[in-house]
Amino acid sequence: MYERIVIAGAGQAAVQTADTLRRRGFGGQLTVIGEEPWLPYQRPPLSKKYLAGTLERERLLIRPAGFFAEHKIETHLGRRIAEIAPAQGHVRLDDATLIPFDALVMATGSRPRQLTAPGGELGGVYYLRSIADADAIRGACTAGGRVVIIGGGYIGLEVAATARELGMDVTVVEMADRVMNRVTCPEVSAFYAAEHARAGVHIHCNAQVRALHGDARTGRVRAVLTEDGREFPADLVIVGVGVVPADELARAAGLDCENGVRTDAHCRTSAAHIYAAGDCASHLNRQYGRHLRLESVDNAFEQGTTVALNLLGVPTPHDKVPWFWSDQFDLKLIIIGLAMGYDEVILRGDPATRSFSACYLRGGELVAIDTINAAKDQMAARKLIAAHARPDPAKLADPAVPLKDAV
Ligand code: NAP
Repeated sequence: MYERIVIAGAGQAAVQTADTLRRRGFGGQLTVIGEEPWLPYQRPPLSKKYLAGTLERERLLIRPAGFFAEHKIETHLGRRIAEIAPAQGHVRLDDATLIPFDALVMATGSRPRQLTAPGGELGGVYYLRSIADADAIRGACTAGGRVVIIGGGYIGLEVAATARELGMDVTVVEMADRVMNRVTCPEVSAFYAAEHARAGVHIHCNAQVRALHGDARTGRVRAVLTEDGREFPADLVIVGVGVVPADELARAAGLDCENGVRTDAHCRTSAAHIYAAGDCASHLNRQYGRHLRLESVDNAFEQGTTVALNLLGVPTPHDKVPWFWSDQFDLKLIIIGLAMGYDEVILRGDPATRSFSACYLRGGELVAIDTINAAKDQMAARKLIAAHARPDPAKLADPAVPLKDAV
């Protein structure tokens, strides 16, 4: 049994680990270290209600302010970890404080991928990851202002919807040939592109950014230039071109890393007594039989729980079916499972009704479902995917047949 557990990071995975440890009776010393000055908070609303100004900052907190003291969880917030020393069993903070541990959890998350095009350093160019980023963007959004969003993924499209609702003139520049290319099929991408167009968002695909042009006098961005020679005027630019795992500390400490901190199915890293959870972790997933790094609240939550149980001596593999969600306008997208390697998509319901699902099959097996304003398919989808079910395509395509009866 461990006596001193340190959690590097203070996001969803960190809080879930700490909470589960205490809930399950861990009585030892428990420390959470976070680089940002705020108490652990939820990021999903940053591109939605918080950015729109309809959710207060206090409502972002993952746990109420008193939670950490009540549960004797020592927090070091606004402190960066300078070094992890596995052999010595301590972490060193940027103010030289040494915090000893018997077990360590890497929950360092991810950070926005930086735009490499010239002009990326101009004023008025924003990334969205933290409360500070969202506050800065909110301050720069004015009705009638022109925002160019680089990247048509989750961040790009959610911010586009919010900015449109704030009355801005919104342009999205996407490198791939369709939006949400990484996570959905062409049919769902087309549906979302059409919805955004209907709301007045200008989406440009196959558009690679060549440079950002600035105003020499103010040092602020004034336009986004693409490789095909187009120029999109901008009062502000928001970049959402994906994230990279925050695994530098783990690398420097000699932990095995490849697209994040590598772990086995029990979330154990290559170093004894060190675990990893959340966006920074690339875990061996039993459901999919390969290493996966997942960027979602659900994954951080589930892996946080898994890590805590393993730390408590309850051997627990992590093999949940992952899920993701995205809110854009009045559309609720829920993605269950991973569609990678799919060879067939069956639509369930008519996109024109704005309530339908896309079912992804691989060799006849259901591997993932996207539901759009069709939440009723969720629970059955989870069970079928976990069971590697092979549904009848005709039943799958018929929304009148309950999903659970499609097998
Ligand atoms: P993302 O979903 O990976 O989307 C990034 C998009 O930008 C991709 O479509 C990508 O195209 C495109 N792109 C990459 N480089 C580009 C360039 N130079 N010019 C134009 N487009 C470019 O990542 P994200 O939207 O930045 O989100 C960041 C993180 O926040 C992710 O972990 C995401 O899961 C998370 N997040 C989640 C939600 C949610 O679940 N609802 C909401 C917001 C954020 P390719 O696919 O071709 O690379």
